[in-house]
Amino acid sequence: MAPLDLDLALDPAPFSRLVIASTNAGKIREFRQLLAGMGLEIDAQPGDLEVEETGETFAENARLKAITVARHSGSWTLADDSGLSVAALNGAPGVHSARYAATDPARISRLLHELAGSSDRTARFSAALALADPNGNVRIEVEGLCAGVILEAPRGEGGFGYDPVFFVPETGLTYAEMDQTLKGRIGHRGRAFAQLETALRELLGS
Ligand code: IMP
Repeated sequence: MAPLDLDLALDPAPFSRLVIASTNAGKIREFRQLLAGMGLEIDAQPGDLEVEETGETFAENARLKAITVARHSGSWTLADDSGLSVAALNGAPGVHSARYAATDPARISRLLHELAGSSDRTARFSAALALADPNGNVRIEVEGLCAGVILEAPRGEGGFGYDPVFFVPETGLTYAEMDQTLKGRIGHRGRAFAQLETALRELLGS
């Protein structure tokens, strides 16, 4: 008799519905595109639920959101957290990237001001993803990174957030100068998704 596969024996039934732990329509659309072809129905989290991002790392925040929304919705849930960490600023803005200032131009201004005169301008973008089952157990965790340097002045018209000042030496371009395909391939989010896709296909048995 074949030995009992305990992992499989403990698995809840394979799932076909996935809740994204966000109410941001742009983010839901992006996840739908990235997960297209996996046979999953993708839904946003319930609108009445707010999860405070109290973690000290991107991974902690992704876990926190995935676990809370999964338990609340009773569905498999995928959550993400991302941001920019600058070495000379001890990792700031880090998990506070979105709240660093009120608008994208103000966030960039503050960053350039804080870094004025610094010879070390190395930085990295991170994207953490966590998938929790309906019981709130984290089943997949991945993190994608992209290393770069912060320029002294913005370059490029595309993208959002800190893109115009984030320069990736291996490409000779800022995130704001890259097309979506290149950013998707070498960027932090694209790298996290590539790892997620592999792990998710394994979990779904496809
Ligand atoms: P989140 O929605 O909590 O993950 O917030 C992430 C924040 O980090 C955003 O508001 C941006 O300020 C910044 N960020 C994350 N990814 C990127 C990116 O690809 N380009 C520029 N800024 C980003």
